[in-house]
Amino acid sequence: MPSNDVARTAPPEISVVLPAHNEQDGIAYFHAEVLVPALETQLDAPFEVVYVNDGSTDATLELLTEIADADSRVRVINLSRNFGKEVAVTAGIAQSRGGATVIMDADGQHPPALIGEFVAWWRAGAQVVVGVRQSNQREGMMKRIGSRSFYRLLNAISEMQTVPRSTDYRLIDSDVRREFLRFTERNRITRGLIDWLGFRRAYVEFDAPARIAGDASYTVGKLFGLAVTSFTTMSLRPLFFFGYVGVACTLLALLAGVFIGVEQFLLGDPLHLRFSGAALLGIFVTFMVGIVLTAQGMMAVYLAHIHAQAQNRPLYVVDRVGSRGLGPMEDTL
Ligand code: UDP
Ligand code: MG
Repeated sequence: MPSNDVARTAPPEISVVLPAHNEQDGIAYFHAEVLVPALETQLDAPFEVVYVNDGSTDATLELLTEIADADSRVRVINLSRNFGKEVAVTAGIAQSRGGATVIMDADGQHPPALIGEFVAWWRAGAQVVVGVRQSNQREGMMKRIGSRSFYRLLNAISEMQTVPRSTDYRLIDSDVRREFLRFTERNRITRGLIDWLGFRRAYVEFDAPARIAGDASYTVGKLFGLAVTSFTTMSLRPLFFFGYVGVACTLLALLAGVFIGVEQFLLGDPLHLRFSGAALLGIFVTFMVGIVLTAQGMMAVYLAHIHAQAQNRPLYVVDRVGSRGLGPMEDTL
């Protein structure tokens, strides 16, 4: 698609970004029967729909191209291979031009009927509107327990709090989009980054229906990987944890060693504890393990500096001041 075509038309007020990976069985129905009717009835402003085909190996791309050919409000970005949803969403956000960008799944699990509510919150002044999933009975036991422990752990170890069950179904305004696109880190969780940015937010609850068709690309294994990425990109505490264990081991072994030394060898075992050679050896081993873990913890400190430098997040994010606003300041810096 020639890019000046896009540049020539006036930007729409609302952009909807949808990543799609192997959605051939549901996408045509979803677009024509669910998404477009919802947008047309709920939005009184011009909108655009940006599909990102994330390396589908089925007919998704052909179907999306047909849709885009028939409707000038629809664009398709075709990634050269499967890059994963987080990257696909980033590509879509980068291509969206609206005053607000709504991100949603293309499988029907993020009901488009709520877009009106998202936009209403935006018009009322929210810069980020987050879809919060009500508990999903259709989910397996495993996924439900997994998701609950995930948020507990994430909030325990990270510097900022994440609302449980908050999803990628979100609206961000153009200021947030501009800041989002400054992130250069490669391992990314879109919702984590949007949470990190701050800004005024609102929450909309929704009930996630079952997929229209096809299977979720995310298996339990992939979800676990995603959880690990969340923890390691949003917090460095896991890195330091073993260092603390090491310090605790060293101190404990040291205390025990001093106690035995004094009790057994200086005072001649007045308490008749008769420490064996194995006990002494055990304490010595604990002490050495403690030293090694402490050294690892020290390395973690240096690694953390490198990690922060490599992630290269913006040092701070500027919001407009007041309603009239000073505008974005980065240009003047
Ligand atoms: N998706 C994607 N790339 C992938 C996997 C998924 O773009 O590698 C898209 C998928 O087409 C859907 C959304 O991301 O629109 C959510 O995926 P899925 O339904 O598989 O996950 P879940 O509903 O379990 O979050
Ligand atoms: Mg899904």
